[in-house]
Amino acid sequence: MHVTRSLPARFSFCVAVSSWLTVIGCRDTPPPAAPEPTKPEIARDAAGGDVIAAAAEAILRNGCASPDAVAPVPTWRSSAAPPFDVAIYTAHPDDEAMYAGGTMARLAAAQRRVAFVSMSHGEGGRLLERAADGGVEERRDYPRSHVVLVRDREVADAAARVGVTHAHLYPADANVDDAYTTSCSDALAHWQATLPGGLADALARLVADVRTRRPRVVVTLDPRDDPQASHHGHHKAVGVLAEAAARLAADARAVARGQPHVVEEVLSMAPRDVTADVVVPVDATKRVSMLEAYGSQFTREGLAVDPIAQRSVESFVVRWRAREAPISPERATLLALMSVSR
Ligand SMILES: [Zn+2]
Repeated sequence: MHVTRSLPARFSFCVAVSSWLTVIGCRDTPPPAAPEPTKPEIARDAAGGDVIAAAAEAILRNGCASPDAVAPVPTWRSSAAPPFDVAIYTAHPDDEAMYAGGTMARLAAAQRRVAFVSMSHGEGGRLLERAADGGVEERRDYPRSHVVLVRDREVADAAARVGVTHAHLYPADANVDDAYTTSCSDALAHWQATLPGGLADALARLVADVRTRRPRVVVTLDPRDDPQASHHGHHKAVGVLAEAAARLAADARAVARGQPHVVEEVLSMAPRDVTADVVVPVDATKRVSMLEAYGSQFTREGLAVDPIAQRSVESFVVRWRAREAPISPERATLLALMSVSR
């Protein structure tokens, strides 16, 4: 265990944006459009058990509590060399940059293969635009199709800036980015009610993604909160789902695309007031470069004075490691991947 310093206290971006100078991808949402009904992708094992659906039910019961009641931590078994070293799962495009952009840049520079997956397209939010007088306007009047166009272009640019791969978990018309709430349970319940196939389908998509990417390390948001203490329910909820999916991916009974895969280590982006297990020194300019790709969400002036955007470390909590995984107990896999001395 090694830690280090806590990040400076700061106000919540998401619930109390004090000015246009400090804005983040947290959004009020316009009324949701009804998602297209699609056939749920439900996993069933040979005996008729429904591992993923049962996990989704347990998550709905437990909210953001420990995933131990949902699925066990897998036991390590060797597999073919994974195509990805690290896979990062977040709620909105720009979460990855703000909370782990420096680490991603560092991993990519060390020739590690990194992918990040955004559950939504940020389709429920607003766009910032530069007004004729040089000020910044917040636009909420665009159709979602335009918002998605802009946000998809930005996330592709952000990924290219640090040399990592990006994908969305859902199509934009699933409207994942709806119904802003600070409650993890409410966010989970909303997704259960509105996403095609509910949480079971969300888990199946995540399990399939993990099995396809076969990462050694999964990084996601923390179910307790994010590093900014923004209290965003989507952030917490995606943390619960990604962590559960990383466990279920190893379970052959969980029927989703791909072969079972054991993730060595799952880390969360350390909440502001939580002691971190892994602290990565980073080049803040790399993170800021990624964030600047999101011109509809941040301004250069805002980023320049944003303590989270400018911080020189990124902190993570080890949520679990695969049982009996052949890694040194005193050395986190994420750090080993970067050859960072402790
Ligand atoms: Zn977000």
